[in-house]
Amino acid sequence: MTKMSAEIIAVGTELLLGQIADTNAQWISKQLAAIGMNVHHHAVVGDNLQRVQEQFRVSNQRSDVIIVTGGLGPTEDDLTREGFQQLTGMEIVEHGPSMEKIKKRFADKGISMTPNNRKQARVFTEADVLENHTGMATGMIVPHGDKTWVFMPGVPREMKRMMTDSVLPYIRRLTGEDTMIKSVMLRFIGIGESRLEHELQDLIRQQTNPTIAPLAQNEGIAIRLTAKASTDEAALALIERTKRDILDRIGDYYYGADEQSLEERVLNLLKEQEKTIAAAESLTGGMFMDKMIAVSGASQVCRGGIVCYDTNVKESLLRVPSQVLEQHGAVSEACASTMAANVCSSLNADIGISFTGVAGPDSSEGHPAGTVFIALHDTSGKQQVEKYTFHGDRNTVRKQTVLKGYELLYNLLK
Ligand code: ATP
Ligand code: MG
Repeated sequence: MTKMSAEIIAVGTELLLGQIADTNAQWISKQLAAIGMNVHHHAVVGDNLQRVQEQFRVSNQRSDVIIVTGGLGPTEDDLTREGFQQLTGMEIVEHGPSMEKIKKRFADKGISMTPNNRKQARVFTEADVLENHTGMATGMIVPHGDKTWVFMPGVPREMKRMMTDSVLPYIRRLTGEDTMIKSVMLRFIGIGESRLEHELQDLIRQQTNPTIAPLAQNEGIAIRLTAKASTDEAALALIERTKRDILDRIGDYYYGADEQSLEERVLNLLKEQEKTIAAAESLTGGMFMDKMIAVSGASQVCRGGIVCYDTNVKESLLRVPSQVLEQHGAVSEACASTMAANVCSSLNADIGISFTGVAGPDSSEGHPAGTVFIALHDTSGKQQVEKYTFHGDRNTVRKQTVLKGYELLYNLLK
């Protein structure tokens, strides 16, 4: 038997007008991929009977499983049922239990029901009716010839519940397919894309299951491993084996999996080591601290930061001696290390980090745009100052600076 393919249709003019994005299709696709079902098309059609019907006709020809969201509501422009009826001639009847539920909802709210609300309880005679636990429109699974049609409300919350409770189990039974797909994202920092590919060249070349896909990210680089097997456990075991092979080679640069961010990892390390941190930020203007405070649990480790953009502020608030500023300038190793040490003592932290440099676009103090100094002051001993030259516009330089700061901290703590 050739493998079944699925198609997802979103009904709604608001999608075509760009008022909302078709997140339903995105979510459904992910769920179907996870049970090994191929999705070959996404379609969006407006609230127009003729075009809905036309879309349904095309989809019925090319796909085995057709999943439709939206257009099941009470209003005139909800035309999904009508479109399918025109295509198939199927009879529509009122579904007693759904009607009772709708009546009860209105009664509970103490408002009277308008006649068009009955619409939401109408189902095809052949349909397997899907209960809506969170809303009123009833969903349906409708076999049609050798095709299977699924209708669900457009409201994402209602659709997701129906999909998880009823539709996914149904599709798994339908396909008799027991392939599970699992994937994991491995995250690295401090290694470039070409270096990473070089280190893993033979693994990448031989890859079959799991597949190995390096992806350049805003934050370092990631590798997505995707495995197929008959059970979740078996797929995860395949992933685990390849993950070990990869980490044997480039484990030094690895900081976390899946959605873990570098700042979260750093924050957790600080927590584990019971260390606190303070930042002196010139060109980054608070971006470093902002990222860390965005992670929950920051209060245990973040003392605070000083945005010392102006040279006078470096002198007054951070006590950078005027002779350092005169002799070396604000963009210098000496200034950076004084900033880190002094923010650390002023804010009573265990580790101080500082950022000073030229965000650009113009050069400053004779340094070209992109020149940055980052210093770390660890009260338990380690001091470090690094000079970098970043490329890109002002905000790209600032972002790279913050990322580099987290990389240095991660290397200090790991
Ligand atoms: P209801 O009976 O709850 O009105 P419905 O089946 O009529 O459901 P729609 O009226 O088409 O669904 O959509 C309801 C809401 O759900 C829309 O206002 C929109 O915010 C959201 N929605 C609809 N389709 C999508 C989609 N494809 N992706 C994301 N959100 C959607
Ligand atoms: Mg509606």
